[in-house]
Parts: sequence; structure tokens; C-alpha cells
Amino acid sequence: MARIALFPGSFDPITIGHVNVITRSLDLFDKVIVGVGHNISKNYMFPLQDRMQWIKDSFEEFPQVEVVSYTGLTINFCKEINARFILRGLRSSADFEFERSIAQMNNYLESSIETVFILSAPEYTPVSSTIVRDIIRNGGNADAFVGSGVKLK
Ligand code: ADP
Repeated sequence: MARIALFPGSFDPITIGHVNVITRSLDLFDKVIVGVGHNISKNYMFPLQDRMQWIKDSFEEFPQVEVVSYTGLTINFCKEINARFILRGLRSSADFEFERSIAQMNNYLESSIETVFILSAPEYTPVSSTIVRDIIRNGGNADAFVGSGVKLK
């Protein structure tokens, strides 16, 4: 059975931290599906189409990386796409506490799906979409922190 992982997130926008997690996961899985969330109650800075296209363009040389959008429960979407793994990145103990409860709740809901964590490379620990958005909002240059396919202007 193919080892398919879903990497869920907002990717608003995709950063070099996300790219690093995805790239490092490629040895573990046959296919990594980047699941871009769209939730009406969340205020994204960038439209779904841009967030998805930027990920596709950042990984155009990697046929094992696919980009899809989804709504609803992550574990339900995993079942739809036959993903047995959820991939998440960890930067800090704050990430860990947050991720632990989500992964444990997902495990209660669906024990056949395993969450796999990749620890951030030290140079990417301070990188977050939130800070990238702050830089952009304030007129700074965030190009060094986003995926190669991201076109901010
Ligand atoms: P969400 O809205 O679900 O938090 P994000 O797009 O912010 O989505 O993040 C998706 C995943 O990527 C999360 O698991 C997050 O911890 C991880 N991540 C974000 N930035 C980094 C980074 N710099 N290094 C490693 N993992 C990261």
C-alpha cells in the first residue's frame, strides 16, 4: 500500500520552513499531499488560488508532491485520499503543546491515522507565515523567507 501523507495547513503563504519539512519528508512517504485549508471563518491574507499555486510552483520538480484544498475534519479528508499519515512540523515547545492535543484528538477519532512530526531545522525555527505576513504588511521584503514559487508582487 502506498504511503501517503497529508500535510495540512494554511500556507498563508508557504515559507522556507514548510518547504524544508516537505522536502525532508519525501524519503518517508511515496506521496505527500499538501492540504491547503480554507475555512470561511479564517481571515487569510492571500486567496486560496494563490496559496495553492505558490506551493505547486515551489515543488514543480517534485512529482510526488501534490497540492489540494480541503475543508472539514482533517481525518475525514485523509480517509478520502487514502492518507494514513498526517505530517506536521515542530518549531518550539509552544508548537508541541498545540500539536499534541490535535494529534491526540485525531487519534481518538481515527486510530488508524498516525501523525508524524518533523523537527524544524534550526535555521528555520524563527520562520512563520505570521511573521512573513507582518513583514509584507509593513512594506518589508519577505522574499528570503518564502517558497521559491511565491510571487508577492
Ligand atoms: P496552521 O494554520 O495549521 O498552523 P501553517 O501553514 O501555519 O498552518 O503550518 C502548517 C504546519 O507547518 C504546522 O505543523 C507548523 O507547525 C509547521 N511549520 C510552520 N512553520 C514551520 C517552520 N519554520 N519549521 C517547521 N515547521 C513549520
